[in-house]
Amino acid sequence: MKEKKKQVRIIGVIQCDFARERCSGFGCMNSFASRIDGFARYAAEPGIMLVPFNCGGCPGRRISRVASNLIKRAKAKAGIDKDELVIHLASCIVTDNGHYPPCPHIDYIEKILKRKGLKVRRGSYKSKTATKRRAEGLYEEFDWDAD
Ligand code: SF4
Repeated sequence: MKEKKKQVRIIGVIQCDFARERCSGFGCMNSFASRIDGFARYAAEPGIMLVPFNCGGCPGRRISRVASNLIKRAKAKAGIDKDELVIHLASCIVTDNGHYPPCPHIDYIEKILKRKGLKVRRGSYKSKTATKRRAEGLYEEFDWDAD
């Protein structure tokens, strides 16, 4: 018999340290609160807790420590298991955007997270300007529906 898929209870959003020098993070938080852009797939899932954090600077090794802390604290404080947690790499990391082209360490960061047994998805806020530039062929394509 097929096991029932667990509901997502925490989404960790990782943002680029360099992008955060000029970004409040509002776009990502608003997209999550409105369940749009990279978070549209969670429209029917209320009660998800959002935990944003920065990568810590190139090549993103802080993520290992923070992800371990998140896994431990989620279980200890809220009884939330690792398989109820999803990590989103924010658009400032994975898309070609107004900050920079995509992070050159995406695969390395994903490897860190996957080794910890975490589900990883790409994308958060979908900027109108970047979308326009993508359509004009100035920015790289991005698959918002990839799982
Ligand atoms: S590792 Fe990537 S996400 Fe982190 S600061 Fe460097 S470019 Fe930004």
